[in-house]
Amino acid sequence: HFDEMVYVDKLTMISEMAASFAHEIRNPITTVRGFIQLLQKNGNKEQLKQFAPLILEELDRANKIITDYLQLAKPTDFRVRPIQLNDVLRDCVQLLQPLGTFANVIVEWKQRENYIVWGDEHYLKQSLLNIIKNGIEAIEGSGVVTITTEAELSQNMVKVIIEDDGKGMTEEELKKIGLPYYTTKSRGTGLGSMISNRLIREMGGTIHYTSRLGKGTRVEIVLPLAK
Ligand code: ADP
Ligand code: MG
Repeated sequence: HFDEMVYVDKLTMISEMAASFAHEIRNPITTVRGFIQLLQKNGNKEQLKQFAPLILEELDRANKIITDYLQLAKPTDFRVRPIQLNDVLRDCVQLLQPLGTFANVIVEWKQRENYIVWGDEHYLKQSLLNIIKNGIEAIEGSGVVTITTEAELSQNMVKVIIEDDGKGMTEEELKKIGLPYYTTKSRGTGLGSMISNRLIREMGGTIHYTSRLGKGTRVEIVLPLAK
């Protein structure tokens, strides 16, 4: 029922990435520098009180960008082995429950058979967390993020479906997911999807987004089944 849109790999130019990374990190640094200069010149207690939260926010943002960026480099501890998919999903749901509750979002996991997939447990969890978090963040008011699994036995694969009833995306927006630093959120880094997509590909999986504006988004992650 969603518009079809095949996910295309956007991560093409490493140098482009590095350039935009430098740009993204320079913005908060320049801002912080400006604030400190101002305080140095004629800073009183009042101004310090006023600027300190802004300075901290900018520093946090720079820190977040660096943390996300570091995950892009292929992790040295990345190791694909048979893992229990339900363990990963259980952890994800537990970890995101507080965020969901805070945002009036129910994170609903329809637990089925416990499939054994090829993957790196830590990085699969990280990828799914990014995707589920996006689902939660897409919901204005209240809503549901549903997680289901579905075997594609003929292909020796299993599908993890993460669906939200949030604001959805236009076709144009959908095309931009996974582009470095593409974000529509005031506090977003625009790196989460790119990292998730990359890690899932590293595990021999694929990721596919469909969305409809005002209706919601469906993300299908296909992972290879281990015996
Ligand atoms: P961030 O979450 O930091 O913005 P992401 O790479 O995770 O970065 O996502 C990029 C953008 O893609 C988001 O800002 C949002 O506009 C869009 N997006 C991703 N997932 C969804 C979703 N489930 N529903 C609506 N929009 C989404
Ligand atoms: Mg995100």
